[in-house]
Amino acid sequence: MQRRELIKLFALVPYAGSVSIIPFTAAAAPASAPQNAEKRFLFKELGVRTFINAAGTFTAMTGSLMHDYVLDAIQSAASEFCMLDELQDKVGEKIAALVHSEAAVVTSGAFSGMTLGLAGILTGMDQKKVEQLPHLDGTGMKSEVIIQKAHDIVYNHALKNTGCKIIYVETVAEVEQAINEKTALLHFLNIEADKGKIKHEEWVALGKKHNIPTSIDIAADVPPVSNLWKFNDMGFSFVVISGGKAIRGPQSAGLLMGKKEIIAAARLHMPPRGFNIGRGFKVNKEEILGMYVALDKYIKDDHDKEWKAWEAATAVIDNAAKTVSGVTTSITVPELGNVTPTLQIAWDAGKVKLSGKDLQEKLRSGAPSIEIGGAKESSITVTVWMLKPGQEKIVAGRIKEELMKAVG
Ligand SMILES: *Cc1c(COP(=O)(O)O)cnc(C)c1O
Repeated sequence: MQRRELIKLFALVPYAGSVSIIPFTAAAAPASAPQNAEKRFLFKELGVRTFINAAGTFTAMTGSLMHDYVLDAIQSAASEFCMLDELQDKVGEKIAALVHSEAAVVTSGAFSGMTLGLAGILTGMDQKKVEQLPHLDGTGMKSEVIIQKAHDIVYNHALKNTGCKIIYVETVAEVEQAINEKTALLHFLNIEADKGKIKHEEWVALGKKHNIPTSIDIAADVPPVSNLWKFNDMGFSFVVISGGKAIRGPQSAGLLMGKKEIIAAARLHMPPRGFNIGRGFKVNKEEILGMYVALDKYIKDDHDKEWKAWEAATAVIDNAAKTVSGVTTSITVPELGNVTPTLQIAWDAGKVKLSGKDLQEKLRSGAPSIEIGGAKESSITVTVWMLKPGQEKIVAGRIKEELMKAVG
């Protein structure tokens, strides 16, 4: 499945959760229930299905699971008051040093980071302009963002939320033609970098040549870990990434990194200021500290070891599926976005009488419930990076079992 289709699928299709009741697993218990209080198993209490995630980092599936050290940071943050600005200042400094940017701020995700970064560019430190957004007419503020056609995805609406219009272009000549006194930003989407005619360095150079800021959305682009600083080093004016994908920080957090004056101005739009477009993008001390700890640890992690563990877990599922007659498998690694081993399990429809969607439904309604990635006519897609250690054996067993049953 194309990245674009996948993004569309998860953005548009409401969650199909018509599923029988699944036994609650202890693993889904809250990690830090208060001591001496009766432990509540809330998913069970509410009848909310929990599942093994062999699909990936999807908002509809609540993203990723935070590590214990992130939960510890959240727990300790929750027991004290502090000034929100002071915490953002101090954490921002630490994060900026980690990612090689002049400044950084924890946002409520990559999407809000895009809105806030552009808002900062539009208003600068002018409080009156901050109050005018998203109404740009007659304010003297710029009002256009240039993006390559190939980079047109749903998330670019974050930029339109400032009141700006998007001008789509394909070639360098078209960029230069589109640039005018209203141009606020040249925006780039890393996950579709290979589809556009203009590459990163050239995009940054165009911005510098015309003295217009450049930005890049790298929301789903670690691993590799080096992407955290690569685009700051390259000279993008601001960079946004999700906190709750591979970094496994809070799903309701992300980072806006970039030039000092952009981050400072962006913060005028965020709590505790900015009673306008950014007021709803609140992050509190829990997300801020959770994001900081997740990022710090992610950078220090042994990524080779993690990759080998992903390969090993993928092999367990691959080897089990392949034993079924008529089944073929392949493992690919996307070059951009969600860079992790991706197992495709396909079968001869003449031998295995089951559609991809049927298999998806059987895995979903089984015990334990399992979610997989893309389901097509006679294939499914599986990733292991969101599995807990050992779950690959359960996924392998269930997929094999259902495929065997369908061999006719
Ligand atoms: C996930 C994603 C976003 C949105 O990120 P949030 O952190 O959920 O706000 C934006 N752009 C792309 C390409 C993404 O994959």
